[in-house]
Amino acid sequence: MNKINYQNELDKIIEKNISEGKIPSLLLHACCAPCSSYCLEYLSRYFNITVFYYNPNISLKEEYEYRLNEEKRLISLMDFVNPVRIIEGEYKPKNFYDAVKGLEDEPEGGKRCVKCFRLRLEASAQKAKELGADYFTTTLTISPLKNAGLLNNIGAQYAEKYGVNWLYSDFKKKEGYKRSIALSREYSLYRQNYCGCIFSKNAAQK
Ligand code: SF4
Repeated sequence: MNKINYQNELDKIIEKNISEGKIPSLLLHACCAPCSSYCLEYLSRYFNITVFYYNPNISLKEEYEYRLNEEKRLISLMDFVNPVRIIEGEYKPKNFYDAVKGLEDEPEGGKRCVKCFRLRLEASAQKAKELGADYFTTTLTISPLKNAGLLNNIGAQYAEKYGVNWLYSDFKKKEGYKRSIALSREYSLYRQNYCGCIFSKNAAQK
């Protein structure tokens, strides 16, 4: 089976909106400022963006808040073609621990991460629906450590369930990941050395 090029899917959606003279609204689930940097630079040319910081997986609370503040700082510093605003989701780590129960010892990229993606993307679909956003997507596909196919499948499933449009993406294409590193340097962004949950933190310290 041919692998889908999700960047091509995104290109098609952008081209269609341009040809119709539209600047649609987008709910962009964001995991952290470094991953958001390129996604915002790129997507704000074509969308009005609401960044949705929803990451109950992040441990500890101080780390969660630090990443959130970096996200806000980045948005305040960058110049955007179209407006970007940020809203915060509920920080209830219990929701994450309940979702990944029994999968605590899974390696990064395994079954625990699937549950973590589901938790965050379902909440994003619900928020996009509530706000009447034209599309929703996530910055997570920029990471070389994350499976873009899996993220796009999950996103598309929740899009169907909640009646909102999923914006396909693979932000690491077009040198997106490289650009995020350059932008992180330019804005002196905090780049964490673990994904987010306590299990990934413990694994990074081994
Ligand atoms: S490693 Fe990252 S994606 Fe996987 S469960 Fe932990 S925070 Fe979520």
